Amino acid sequence: MEASKHTRTAVVSPLPAASLSSCGTVSATADVKLPNPARAGFADKLYRLDGGHSLANDESVWTPGENVGRSIQFSSTCWLIQRENQWLLWDTGVPESALNDPKGWSTLPKLIVYHLDKTLTDQLAEIGLKTTDITYVALSHTHGDHIGNVRLFADSTILIQRAEYEWISSPDGPNDNVNQLKALARKLMGTPKHLRLLDGDTDVFGDGSVTLVSTPGHTPGSQSLMVHLKKSGFIILSGDVVHLEENFEKDAVPSLNTDKAASIASMERVKRMIATYKAKFFINHDKAETDKLKLIPAFYD
Ligand SMILES: [Zn+2]
Repeated sequence: MEASKHTRTAVVSPLPAASLSSCGTVSATADVKLPNPARAGFADKLYRLDGGHSLANDESVWTPGENVGRSIQFSSTCWLIQRENQWLLWDTGVPESALNDPKGWSTLPKLIVYHLDKTLTDQLAEIGLKTTDITYVALSHTHGDHIGNVRLFADSTILIQRAEYEWISSPDGPNDNVNQLKALARKLMGTPKHLRLLDGDTDVFGDGSVTLVSTPGHTPGSQSLMVHLKKSGFIILSGDVVHLEENFEKDAVPSLNTDKAASIASMERVKRMIATYKAKFFINHDKAETDKLKLIPAFYD
């Protein structure tokens, strides 16, 4: 319903021709946009930020056929990348208004409740940054726990797949949970002042240091991110291409995902990339794994 409004008011900066691809479909030529591992440039630092955590009452939504009625905790993770004097924030977590609220905050009240122990603003301040210092905010997709604070970054350029942005304003489908998530996404996104809609894989800085990788399936325009660091090598940040390490091993697809075949193809694509780039893989919502990773002000370089 808001498609025309979004289209009319969005400021869409054209990408250089070299970054344009026809669409986000998985094909034999899709990897052409990815960096040459031997020649990719480097980002300087990668910081993890705590974007909240959640408790869901039925794990089987994420692991169909297994764990029915079992509760599960997820992490919500945001990442900050420094490349020279530019900063890129990957996802924005649970809304800051949920801070220390014992009732929590929800995207789907019957299924999942989120809690926030520290704000992004305070975590950025730990290394001397303000929200206005962030050059780019790249969004893996438009679920509320990933775009909860996107409006704090009104001066930043928002990087999102065109397929994702158009999807949240498309007509409702048969899955009411998905419809609710889309309505919440429209509300949280608002109308960004600086919006760059992407068509598939995108080399953000033009040197292979930070690449947004098209991994549709969880939502129509989901993406992952690959960063290249001098000491740590390549690291792939999952977005929600997968929620749990075990699902990644089994190619298990959550029932909320909009496209099962695309979800499997995207997981397989990430597995190939992990092999090609000898990459580490950080899974956003896998709390047991995430809790072991460095947290701001510590960083990977
Ligand atoms: Zn998520």
